[in-house]
Amino acid sequence: MENLYKQIWDKIQEADAVLIGASNGLSISEGYNIFADDDWFREHFGDFRNKYGIRSLLQGMFLDFEGPQEQWAYFSRLAYLKRYKEQSGRMMKNLYALVEKKDYFVVTSNGEDHFSLAGFSPERVFDMEGKITEYRCARHCHETVYCNPEDIIRMAEAEADGKVPVKALVRCPRCGGFMEPNMAGDQSFFQTDNWKKKAQEYQNFVQEFHGKKLVILELGVGWRNQMIKAPFMRLAQEEPFATYITVNRGEVYVPDVIADRSYGIDGDIAEVLNSLSGQQPR
Ligand SMILES: [Zn+2]
Repeated sequence: MENLYKQIWDKIQEADAVLIGASNGLSISEGYNIFADDDWFREHFGDFRNKYGIRSLLQGMFLDFEGPQEQWAYFSRLAYLKRYKEQSGRMMKNLYALVEKKDYFVVTSNGEDHFSLAGFSPERVFDMEGKITEYRCARHCHETVYCNPEDIIRMAEAEADGKVPVKALVRCPRCGGFMEPNMAGDQSFFQTDNWKKKAQEYQNFVQEFHGKKLVILELGVGWRNQMIKAPFMRLAQEEPFATYITVNRGEVYVPDVIADRSYGIDGDIAEVLNSLSGQQPR
């Protein structure tokens, strides 16, 4: 195993660029599981759990709330706890240290914005299903996506009994209406200029390193994932000098056609990144 980590570490050092893809498995390795009725969910969202009968953070994200006061009570608390109050953990710091001096780009379906928390440049992260810190006009009067920590923190601090007071709610600067969290709920999400711009930047990055030594690092992405994994495997196949690295627990899939330049590691992502960072010469 040590030899394997050394090889992967060397591949990353030699690479012209690193493309990172991350999905739920990465969040779960960090202890954040949006599917689980776990201790963290019960401790911080027990009131919503009791009131609405939800059994996971994900169910709450797609709940039909009575109105923006209740919806923002939920989302501002989540964003405040997971993004603005929490410190970056060791796993994400290890990941950032691995690529910070390289050209990198991140595509992720994780909404908790922990890449920028760890130091990744937000310009180089494509949160393809939105993130809990962003919002836009609920009437869709214009397409701009907003992200202002002050709005989120104000709402989270003003919240009482599962409601944000109307006067504390964030408002659309154009029409004065309410805002809604910018999450991938319906097709309109994928039509925003913000999303299209990011998708284009992802393509630009891939183009820029066409024919170069590209490391494709996939973390916690399920084998059937169409948004991240399918394009990654295609890219690895098309790029003759690419190296494809996939890390996941209990679910590692590498197609035969790229097996000779792939590394598949079945294990805990936090431990794998820790072992990788241990390859740094001292
Ligand atoms: Zn508006």
